[in-house]
Amino acid sequence: MRDPTLCLTPGDGLGGAFESLAVPVHRASTVVFPTVAAYQGRRDEIYDGFSYGLYGTPTSRELETRLARLEGAARTLALPSGFAAIAMTTLAAVRPGEEVLFPDTTYDTVRPFAERFLAGLGIGSRYYDPMIGAGLAEVLDGGTRLVWVESPGSMTMEVQDVPAIAAAAHARGAMVAADNTWATPLRFKALAHGVDFSVCALSKYVAGHSDVMMGSVSVNDVGLYRKLKDYSRFLGLGVSADESSLVLRGLETLAIRMDRAEQSARRLVDWVVAQPGVAEVRFPQLATSPGHALWRRDFTGGAGLFSVFLEDWTRPALAEAVESLQLFAIGASWGGTRSLVAVLDRPPLRTVAPPAHTGPVVRFSIGLEDPEDLLQDLARGFARLAAPDQGGGAQRRA
Ligand SMILES: *Cc1c(COP(=O)(O)O)cnc(C)c1O
Repeated sequence: MRDPTLCLTPGDGLGGAFESLAVPVHRASTVVFPTVAAYQGRRDEIYDGFSYGLYGTPTSRELETRLARLEGAARTLALPSGFAAIAMTTLAAVRPGEEVLFPDTTYDTVRPFAERFLAGLGIGSRYYDPMIGAGLAEVLDGGTRLVWVESPGSMTMEVQDVPAIAAAAHARGAMVAADNTWATPLRFKALAHGVDFSVCALSKYVAGHSDVMMGSVSVNDVGLYRKLKDYSRFLGLGVSADESSLVLRGLETLAIRMDRAEQSARRLVDWVVAQPGVAEVRFPQLATSPGHALWRRDFTGGAGLFSVFLEDWTRPALAEAVESLQLFAIGASWGGTRSLVAVLDRPPLRTVAPPAHTGPVVRFSIGLEDPEDLLQDLARGFARLAAPDQGGGAQRRA
């Protein structure tokens, strides 16, 4: 063989006995087959084997099978983002002329998705009170095909009665999908609580380092899995081996990171509830948080996320107080190693039941910093909120 060919020819390094603890990163577009017959039969391999890079590599399959084991699912499908998992689940479950119900507390991109995308396909959508429980029976009608739950709800943290909602939906022939991003399969086994599709934005706690986007859908019905796989193929959606390996790395420390974030958040919440300007703190582990008893009944733990409803009078000084924090980056998403803060000028849009407060809402995602350092930082911020004209804030304004 000549040199250009030798550049392309496998050497001796790949064989032999080698084993490490890392999951190998199998990059691929082409998958190679041993025979012409195997190549010609490759379409049969789309669902559980390997046929083309877009449809999965050993790295992405390893991630999917580990997630399926945690979810108690027959199959898990990895998708390029949490929202892709929400969209694919909805499209796989609902057809034109049918309807999907979302909780009023749904993840915020869902409302424009329903209005500007599902409606154009002839798929209807309505919203329901997340605390409705078995009362969902009165909201369902013959055309409802899918009911979403998100427990606890985005920003406002209401914990839902998922088994009661699932029973009411199934009694009317509707399927149930859970956005289980907050809990992850470590804290809530959605499928065991009556849900048909368990969705997780892996970008949050599971990947865990604020540097990768991915989502998953887990199901027990293999027919549903094949439909989800087909639909993602038709839309050209797949996940890379590199990003799958980052999520697998996150998964190895998920339990210990969630424990730590939850403990630190608990410490901070106990302090924050007593601060001036705080109207209410939402944290499912707190006895006053909506659905706390359901959280105790159904979940095996919590997360490091809490939302603070502030009094109206805090509004003018809020940006300055938040910008004075040194350990909390301002940004969307959550579940990473670093603490984050997200600020809304007023409670998020609700169309079924008006929010209990009118002031700004601040959501904290607690990371892995030392909780005493975080507490000191928050104390600085709250001092600034109560007395905005003291210190560096005034200087910055000048
Ligand atoms: C972030 C998030 C999503 C979307 O996930 P991406 O990976 O960012 O697309 C969906 N649901 C909830 C509850 C989330 O927090």
